[in-house]
Amino acid sequence: MKKIGAHVSVSGGVEMAPVNALGIGADAFALFTKNQRQWIAKPLSVESVTLFKENCEKEGFDARYVLPHDSYLINLGHPDEEGLEKSRAAFLDEMQRCELLGLKMLNFHPGSHLNKISIEKCLDRIAESVNMTLDKTTGVTAVIENTAGQGSNVGNEFWHLRYIIDKVEDKSRVGVCLDTCHTYTAGYDIVNEYDRVFTEFDEVVGRNYLCAIHLNDSKKPLGSRVDRHDSIGKGMIGIDFFRRFMQDSRFDDMPVILETPDDTIWRDEIKMLRSFES
Ligand SMILES: [Zn+2]
Ligand SMILES: [Zn+2]
Repeated sequence: MKKIGAHVSVSGGVEMAPVNALGIGADAFALFTKNQRQWIAKPLSVESVTLFKENCEKEGFDARYVLPHDSYLINLGHPDEEGLEKSRAAFLDEMQRCELLGLKMLNFHPGSHLNKISIEKCLDRIAESVNMTLDKTTGVTAVIENTAGQGSNVGNEFWHLRYIIDKVEDKSRVGVCLDTCHTYTAGYDIVNEYDRVFTEFDEVVGRNYLCAIHLNDSKKPLGSRVDRHDSIGKGMIGIDFFRRFMQDSRFDDMPVILETPDDTIWRDEIKMLRSFES
């Protein structure tokens, strides 16, 4: 069985996330544990943390199906020392927030070389950043999200993900989240070469590292390297892929998260996806 949900709002506090997830009929969810567009955040209050845990338990959300997402500002492969240090401090704070909330994963965008260093140098920095953070935390896995490769973002090719994993010391706490929109616009044809792409992922990265899925359609075509999500079945990927995905047991027992643009239809999207499963 798939565990499907969406990246829900935390307006009113992180404790609202499980409530909002229940409201759309989800059995998984993603959230930001702080404002994703600001560097500095207030620490989580004891009350918020307690309520978050209580609500998760009450609504039946196991931490295995909760996938927090880090701030968009963080660049763990930053070419400049100042930017790198700032990003590492913010990432550590995010990991510690996850620890406090009793969560097991933190989904992050690998980083950008900003046309100042090579892809490999950028990936080296990311791996080093992950190592530094894992050293200072316990119980939370760093989950690398593949990207569309927009601008100077790394993480659009499977070998980038493998390269980072190879350099992470504690391999039990590193994983991958595949975003279907990013995969497609990065140039992997999951529509016409479904089996070949996922076999390539297994060969290059390894199935055992796959922790989560971001399930999105795409407004932009294959290989465009542009990151514009669309509602399920309404974009360039199209409904047949999602039908097939839902029947593929390789993606069971992990959070499958919608980051589709129209949150008013999340409940219907989840319902439709579930209907494809049987
Ligand atoms: Zn993301
Ligand atoms: Zn995503």
